[in-house]
Amino acid sequence: MNTAEQAPELVDIGVNLAHRSFHTDRDQVVRRAFAAGVRTMVVTGTSVAASEEAIRIAREYPGQMFATAGVHPHDSRNCTQATIPELRRLAASKEVVAIGECGLDFNRDFSPRREQEKWFEAQVVLAEELQMPLFMHEREARERFCRILGAARKSVPAVIHCFTGSDEDLRAYLDLGLHIGITGWICDERRGTHLRELVKRVPLDRLMLETDAPYLLPRTMPHRSRDGRNEPAFLPYVLQTVADCLGKAPAEIALATTQTARQFFRLQ
Ligand SMILES: [Zn+2]
Repeated sequence: MNTAEQAPELVDIGVNLAHRSFHTDRDQVVRRAFAAGVRTMVVTGTSVAASEEAIRIAREYPGQMFATAGVHPHDSRNCTQATIPELRRLAASKEVVAIGECGLDFNRDFSPRREQEKWFEAQVVLAEELQMPLFMHEREARERFCRILGAARKSVPAVIHCFTGSDEDLRAYLDLGLHIGITGWICDERRGTHLRELVKRVPLDRLMLETDAPYLLPRTMPHRSRDGRNEPAFLPYVLQTVADCLGKAPAEIALATTQTARQFFRLQ
């Protein structure tokens, strides 16, 4: 990759830096991201405890690292009456820039669907109350997802993070006015094929980039580490593939997606 001066400035809108795989060398991971031009990162919160940890990490890099506060659909079965008040308290931290990761996952079904729906809706309502953006996850649940979101969301911006869906999914999300987050899934020569066509239909003012590290190591990397751990420093590989799909220079896509992310999360 380029040197920091040449590398275009990027925002990684979804990085799971609280994940245990980063426990021993997190600061080096963050330094490598900065050196690769990833100057701003949003650390994903996936439960009350993980959101607290995400905020604690973000606090170590003021103005460069931010956090979300929310409960992932996989974790929704652990929600209680205390969950929404706790998220409300966490969201008051200046590091928190969105409510989430929240949503529905009917692919893995780690939590009962009723619970997923109940707590997704509650988090959409919380985002509206606090007037904060939503950071959302959806797998094989588009119809229920759109119904809940369509009814509970009034005005806050909302992003489908790690979009991997179909043509119909994308149309439904764009019609709802949602932003779209693209990960290294698009770099996968097998399962990312459809995404390389679909990404052309996302307006640049609704397109954002993310690694979802430590998951989804871009398969376009020439030398992939044996442990398969992804890092925010590898976001330029996602940028390159997206730029190739759109037939534009990476610098142009970097500028556009960074501006979109700054507006979406109201960063500076
Ligand atoms: Zn997710």
